[in-house]
Amino acid sequence: MDMLEDFNMIIDGKSVAGASNFDVINPATGEIFAKAPDCSEAQLDEAIASSRQAFLSWKKLSYEERAGYLNEMGQALIDNAGEMARLFTLEQGRPVALAQAEITNGGEWMQSIAKMRVEADIHEDSDQQLVKTHHVPLGVVCTIVPWNFPISLAAWKIAPALLTGNTMVLKPSPFTPLSTLVMGKMFADILPAGVLNIISGGDNLGPWMTSHPGFDKIAFTGSTATGKRVMESASKNLKSLTLELGGNDAAIVMPDVDLDEVAGKIFFGSFFNTAQICVATKRLYVHEDIYDDLRDRLIAIAKTTKIGDGTKQDTDMGPIQNKRQYDRVQELLGDAKKADLTVIECSDIPDGKGYFIPITIVDNPPEQSRVVQEEAFGPILPMLKFSDVDDVVARANASDYGLAGAVWSKDTDKAMAIALEMETGVVWINQNLIMIPGAPFAGHKQSGFGVENGMEGLLEYTVPKSIYLARG
Ligand code: NAD
Repeated sequence: MDMLEDFNMIIDGKSVAGASNFDVINPATGEIFAKAPDCSEAQLDEAIASSRQAFLSWKKLSYEERAGYLNEMGQALIDNAGEMARLFTLEQGRPVALAQAEITNGGEWMQSIAKMRVEADIHEDSDQQLVKTHHVPLGVVCTIVPWNFPISLAAWKIAPALLTGNTMVLKPSPFTPLSTLVMGKMFADILPAGVLNIISGGDNLGPWMTSHPGFDKIAFTGSTATGKRVMESASKNLKSLTLELGGNDAAIVMPDVDLDEVAGKIFFGSFFNTAQICVATKRLYVHEDIYDDLRDRLIAIAKTTKIGDGTKQDTDMGPIQNKRQYDRVQELLGDAKKADLTVIECSDIPDGKGYFIPITIVDNPPEQSRVVQEEAFGPILPMLKFSDVDDVVARANASDYGLAGAVWSKDTDKAMAIALEMETGVVWINQNLIMIPGAPFAGHKQSGFGVENGMEGLLEYTVPKSIYLARG
């Protein structure tokens, strides 16, 4: 497969050029390296119409038949992950081996979801009546994903939506459209036309999609601010909604941990993917007895982390993915410096126009500082001291967000008790960033609503339909 050929959209099973094109920038160089198709409103209409048409027959297939397609799609991702990885890195920035891991994981995820089934429920089966609830597909799903995990977050939506009998129009972020378009081309060779349309475009396309009356559901992953706009737009014809939004996730490190064992894991949970992860640790609360020791260890790990162009072999960590996000993180850093907080820049960054930011620790800033209260989505980690458990749980929970959290302690009973108190959809104990397809993932508070993954995630793409059959 030639990965740097012309990039096209998939509409009604066909490879289609955009009405115009937009630039795609390599975040490691700040240079334009490719062009992506810019979908017109008329092309969006065509994509939705083809998904609507495909829905009529797709919904009638059995679960086994649809799962067969998903297995093939997952396998295509796995088989082509090596070839796709460099392109992924050029647009997203993450080192190639880690890019490949995401693509492979996306394929495996689809294959795992393909094993799941939503069965009808029988409530009464008597001489008087049979009462049975079927979980029927909603129709055409509008899917919008961000730039931090373009392939896996798309797979998280494609698999449950298609398995349960829906069809879809999917839009990647304008910052990372290319690997998704390549994936769309692979899937078009497998799927019936119209089941999965993949379109790309600039800032207009998302709002056109969410306000389009042709969709029955919106599955959105992105920031809380955009999620609110999506919800407003969806209200026009009361579309069903799943919103996976931002987080400002707290980790609590108890004094009994073995720092030799956990420091590296805490570093990973905070900075993997240049800290551009919705569920990354973004506020690190450390017991005062071990605070200095852990801070110094994290600084030491950061010093050995090579930040650079992800296409280079020795790079551990890539750039911030786009200029908009880079400016936001710089602004937050500038604010921390202006407020005279102790800002420790722990690593070197390459010269040039790439969007690089050093791994930065903000040493015990006030709780109300912006760097603590806002989601940075970049490699700035505020570390905060605590001495009392109830107090730290209250501080961790004092957030409008409620996506994920972590507890680190050798006393797993105590850690479990803390985990149950945390107001988040996921809590990790002595590990971080692990997700499995069978476990539901749901943001609490302003981290969104609705569920991804697990049986609840499948049900999000269905609506109950109860049939009452009279007997006798
Ligand atoms: P974003 O909200 O700016 O964009 C997300 C997507 O929405 C993009 O495809 C974008 O083009 C589109 N979009 C932008 N404005 C729109 C509008 N008005 N209507 C419809 N679509 C619109 O987010 P981002 O900067 O791409 O991603 C980072 C954010 O995503 C962070 O807040 C992060 O926490 C969150 N995120 C959440 C999860 C999760 O599962 N909860 C996962 C990954 C990222």
